[in-house]
Amino acid sequence: MDFDLFVIGGGSAGVRCGRIAAGHGARVGIAEERFWGGTCVNIGCVPKKFMVMAAEYGAAAEDAAGFGWNIAKGAHDWPTLIAAKDKEIARLNGIYKRLLDQAGARIFEARARFIDPHTLQVGDERITAERIVIATGGHPTRPDIPGADLGIVSDDAFYLEKLPKRVAIIGSGYIGVEFAGIFAGLGAETHLIYRQPMPLRGFDQDMRLGLAECMQAFGIILHPDTTPESVTEQPDGTRTLALSDLTVLDVDLVFFATGRAPNVAGLNLQAAGVELGKQGAIVVDANLTTSVPHIFAIGDVTDRLNLTPVATAEGHAVADTLFGGKPRMVSLKNVPTAVFSIPPIGTVGMTEAEAAEHGPAKVFLTRFTPMRHNISGRHRKTLMKLIVDAATDKILGAHMLGEDAPEIMQGLAIAMIAGATKADFDRTIGIHPTAAEEFVTLRTQTRVVGEAVVPG
Ligand SMILES: Cc1cc2nc3c(=O)[nH]c(=O)nc-3n(C[C@H](O)[C@H](O)[C@H](O)COP(=O)(O)OP(=O)(O)OC[C@H]3O[C@@H](n4cnc5c(N)ncnc54)[C@H](O)[C@@H]3O)c2cc1C
Repeated sequence: MDFDLFVIGGGSAGVRCGRIAAGHGARVGIAEERFWGGTCVNIGCVPKKFMVMAAEYGAAAEDAAGFGWNIAKGAHDWPTLIAAKDKEIARLNGIYKRLLDQAGARIFEARARFIDPHTLQVGDERITAERIVIATGGHPTRPDIPGADLGIVSDDAFYLEKLPKRVAIIGSGYIGVEFAGIFAGLGAETHLIYRQPMPLRGFDQDMRLGLAECMQAFGIILHPDTTPESVTEQPDGTRTLALSDLTVLDVDLVFFATGRAPNVAGLNLQAAGVELGKQGAIVVDANLTTSVPHIFAIGDVTDRLNLTPVATAEGHAVADTLFGGKPRMVSLKNVPTAVFSIPPIGTVGMTEAEAAEHGPAKVFLTRFTPMRHNISGRHRKTLMKLIVDAATDKILGAHMLGEDAPEIMQGLAIAMIAGATKADFDRTIGIHPTAAEEFVTLRTQTRVVGEAVVPG
């Protein structure tokens, strides 16, 4: 065999797996057909966060007035932002490739596909490997409506030549609400169209409601309970979007943030005998093994919890298990996550609705105007919520909508992984004056959910 391990895909999951396995002394080959670092670095988390930061400066300039600054907001220059973002991404690409090189992996800048369970066609070369890891990620999808090709998907949003004046975003998952904040913050008329009564399906209800209010206050035009029916193009390039509630919107950009699908087409998985689940994702067990014992799948291609830190943790665990003499699994319980909306959300553990199904749970909720906005005058509320198991006092869920929520939530996730109780939170001294201190000073129970009613 040419390699002990061959990794298909040089994104978050694949790069980590290849690098760690090579560090353990394995003969590693890795193929990437497009860009090192994959989605996260090139067309996902990283450039997205730069764009969110750009969008926040406009509001910061407005907020500064209350503090005595005389700052005129001025116009935003889109090409400057995109050039700065591209430069930083190019630097990160180089780092990813160098890390693999330094670890001793052989790099292939080519597409890989199976010939048989141990053989791959990688560009012009045919290689064999003892073990194979599939880390090919996913791609955005479009709805099946007339004119869908007249809209863009998130991959394209990072390379637009100019900032559109009017944008319609379809879908209110985290990518949809994040880009709504980006476009609105940079000055575009922004519509968010979604099927549910509230954005961010699957997130805690109070956070969803709070975010909808914040987005409206930020100037985003919300279209709940609505689906797109068709897109047509006018002679001047305007996109006309027909909606299910009979509204017709004329915009410069239609952006479909309507979901993602695993990258499995073209891998010729049948030749290897790797099985797919119903949505086309590769099925794996708790060890990330596919239906073929020497073939593994990690990251978004398995479509379970599509987040970069999960992908890298899985890549690391597979490499340690196979070549490091440290067999281990990755737990997908209490994985913290953030939505970089404006303002952002940070969350870990159960939503209130999930906790109610789990058993009796106490809910502690606070809603307040953050210190900064008492002076800036911006209409924006912060929400913080703890959900506590009524029987064990363990924290089941922590949620926050407000500035710095993602930064705050990382620490709370450690506490939850360590099994913290509400009593542990209560005996922790706060850091003053912060918003975060509210998490250790929440004393008034808001409500009890779940079967039995538990006295406060
Ligand atoms: C707009 C957006 C924003 C996001 N924001 C966040 C965020 O804030 N936080 C977060 O945690 N996650 C975020 N994510 C999710 C995150 O990007 C993914 O979970 C992560 O990139 C998954 O890593 P992966 O290695 O599984 O796949 P990818 O990063 O997609 O890497 C797969 C790689 O495989 C390559 N490839 C595919 N097929 C082949 C083949 N046959 N041969 C060779 N190469 C191949 C692809 O070119 C790609 O580079 C975001 C995603 C998007 C789209």
